[in-house]
Amino acid sequence: MMKDIAKVLFTEETIAARVKELGSQINKDYEGKELIVVGVLKGALMFMADLIREIKTPLRFDLIAVSSYGASTSSSGIVRIIKDIDMSIENEHVLVIEDIVDTGLTLKYLMKTLASRQPASLKSCVLLDKPSRRKTEITPDYSGFSIPDWFVVGYGLDFAQRYRQLPVIAVLKPEAYNIGNSQEKEES
Ligand code: 5GP
Repeated sequence: MMKDIAKVLFTEETIAARVKELGSQINKDYEGKELIVVGVLKGALMFMADLIREIKTPLRFDLIAVSSYGASTSSSGIVRIIKDIDMSIENEHVLVIEDIVDTGLTLKYLMKTLASRQPASLKSCVLLDKPSRRKTEITPDYSGFSIPDWFVVGYGLDFAQRYRQLPVIAVLKPEAYNIGNSQEKEES
């Protein structure tokens, strides 16, 4: 697994420090409020698990899964919900946790869908942001790291469902990308 890595972008220590900072910011912004955290499967799993342990505000969490059609390293923009949240978010303060915002189409669709359910407030928190790839206007409310247009894996992020368990965020060697171009990809 580690042999497939070309370059480590963020180490475990760097990720943990940034997650702590995001947690402090969120604690400040939501002081005295209760939160519903909505994690986007599967990519945001590790990030959400670590981030919510830094949040002191009372919270409940739920999970949502979306899927997009297209090649596995690019987003086609066709998004559908394949597992919805179970909770009602009406009049609740909602924070969506996503692994990465690339073209922005997935997050935009998710935010629009959740906004239609009339939450008291709705914000997004992403671990990684690739602003140069944006196809739609959307800026996450909280963002861990900005990265160039590189396809990254680890800390929840996959390539063909693999590498999610890497504790670091990394770029793979080119030869490692030459497997498993599935037609429908479960995000994120
Ligand atoms: P968007 O709709 O913003 O283009 O794409 C968001 C989704 O595409 C992410 O949730 C993630 O599943 C996938 N994605 C985009 N860039 C990367 C990347 O560099 N690595 C991985 N593993 N997934 C990515």
